Amino acid sequence: MEYQRLAEATEPKENRVKHWHEFVHHLSEQDAGVQGARCMDCGIPFCMSGCPVNNIIPDWNDLVFKQNWKQALDVLHSTNNFPEFTGRVCPAPCEESCTLNINNDPVGIKSIEHAIIDKGWEMGWVVPQPPKRKSGKRVAVVGSGPAGMACAQQLARAGHSVTVFEKNDRIGGLLRYGIPDFKMEKWLIDRRIEQMRSEGVTFRTSVHVGNADCLPPGVNSLATTSIAAPLTARCFAPPTRRRSGRRTTGGTARPGRPPRT
Ligand code: SF4
Repeated sequence: MEYQRLAEATEPKENRVKHWHEFVHHLSEQDAGVQGARCMDCGIPFCMSGCPVNNIIPDWNDLVFKQNWKQALDVLHSTNNFPEFTGRVCPAPCEESCTLNINNDPVGIKSIEHAIIDKGWEMGWVVPQPPKRKSGKRVAVVGSGPAGMACAQQLARAGHSVTVFEKNDRIGGLLRYGIPDFKMEKWLIDRRIEQMRSEGVTFRTSVHVGNADCLPPGVNSLATTSIAAPLTARCFAPPTRRRSGRRTTGGTARPGRPPRT
């Protein structure tokens, strides 16, 4: 392998302890291009099946290698509504699946994704995409975490009138309430919300759809006149800890591993 894997630069810890902001800096264009060159464009790209959103990774690796950033952004956005979220906080199972990982360091896929989307925003390439025609149909999306936001954005771009219901007083779900600023700052979520508003999405906060007593006037009728109501909410309660001898329903303890206490 001609090029080695490069880690993203991090702010020195002496500075980092003085604030709560992000401290990881995306790769430079040149370094991202070198990382893209490490991709072997395997016949079977296992990285893609490792990625939960099936990003077309070898294609944008090659486009970044060729410094064709705009097209790389388009390919990235074709499968991923919010690469600035995944490029910062995804645990990168794609890199675990990378063929290079068998006997070398995997391609720094997540760092390339991070560099593509940050450059896209810097260049003003990420703009609202309102639909050309409205379908006349209404959709209610329950939950405003990443799944709810992506669902709402796709449906709005398809021409539907989309309303997102969120039980908390701010949009973002686990993105906002589960990720500290030093990993991903909240203005990144707000920027996407503004884009989605421009595309026609309506957000209604402090509406707990699971609790009929909390529904404000008008919410019931919207739910009954919508063509669909995707449920994207997830549980905020922490998992209970396993105790010795305890098994989850339908599962078995792994042989050879001591139970966690
Ligand atoms: S880091 Fe990006 S490409 Fe890798 S698994 Fe996560 S979303 Fe997919």
